[in-house]
Amino acid sequence: MACSKCGTSQAFYRREQEGVILCKKCFLDSVETKVRKTIVAKRLLEPNDKIVVALSGGKDSVGLLRILWKLERRFPPARLVALTVDEGISDYRNEAVAIAKETCNELKVEHVVISFEQLYGITMDEVASGRNELQPCSYCGVLRRKALNEGARRIGATKLATAHNLDDEVQTALLNVMHGDVARISRVSSVPWKTSAKFVPRIKPLAEVPECETALYAFAAGARFQSIPCPHGGDALRGDIRTMLNRLELKHPGLKHTIYGSVGRLSEMIGSASMTRKFQACTTCGDPTPNAECEACIMLRALKTTAHATDKLEFAQVG
Ligand code: SF4
Ligand code: ZN
Ligand code: ZN
Repeated sequence: MACSKCGTSQAFYRREQEGVILCKKCFLDSVETKVRKTIVAKRLLEPNDKIVVALSGGKDSVGLLRILWKLERRFPPARLVALTVDEGISDYRNEAVAIAKETCNELKVEHVVISFEQLYGITMDEVASGRNELQPCSYCGVLRRKALNEGARRIGATKLATAHNLDDEVQTALLNVMHGDVARISRVSSVPWKTSAKFVPRIKPLAEVPECETALYAFAAGARFQSIPCPHGGDALRGDIRTMLNRLELKHPGLKHTIYGSVGRLSEMIGSASMTRKFQACTTCGDPTPNAECEACIMLRALKTTAHATDKLEFAQVG
């Protein structure tokens, strides 16, 4: 079967919601074009930006780095740096860091690694082994967000690009609704906004690319990426939402894009309210926060107290 775009090459991928069949080259071009259009339409980048790409070593971030690297070459004043957060997860993150390094060496992109241990004095393995109130992912998400901002700030970035794809964005929006946290919907937006000089504006150039296409892009581009799952598991509710959305998308192609569009419009309405929120310096770390202390510092204190109590308990049990 011939490609719907070039009419010559062999079919590689069928994009249901557009009713087209693409060859490998046209598929790769179409994803890059989609990302470029998102960047232009939402004014995600300026020609002289210093862009830090959050590079986990997974399919999405490896694909994003490759796409931004191609774009950057067309805008010589822009600079690209990759930042990997090492959460301290044995038999998992080491491989991802190695893949991230290898990718950066190949593309000749500067690579910086920042670790939870270095920043917070605790690893995710220690968090997961403690008797804590929340699931490991709840701590990991907050601490990784803070680590990325800290790393990007140290590098002197003007934008922090994360590899959230369409599925991530739609799942997060539904999760926020299910948790009753409507105000957080304003964060599901790929438009960069700056609430404080200490926050590096975040952009999500892959927000309109579905997960199946980010995976296929990395594969078709011949990229190496990590595919083993994290041993600390994922969020169970997010997993259920993912399954439900994938079933619905099969029956109703384009549904994820429709939900994303609706969330974007809602986000614009709520976003203006969020942007007027007052921020103050966290009493512990000095980062901007709407409360007296930031979420990460509150979590870290609880984690360290639990770790201490667990050590004492285990010592008493051994004794
Ligand atoms: Fe962190 Fe959870 Fe992701 Fe593992 S699955 S890296 S613990 S957020
Ligand atoms: Zn083609
Ligand atoms: Zn703090």
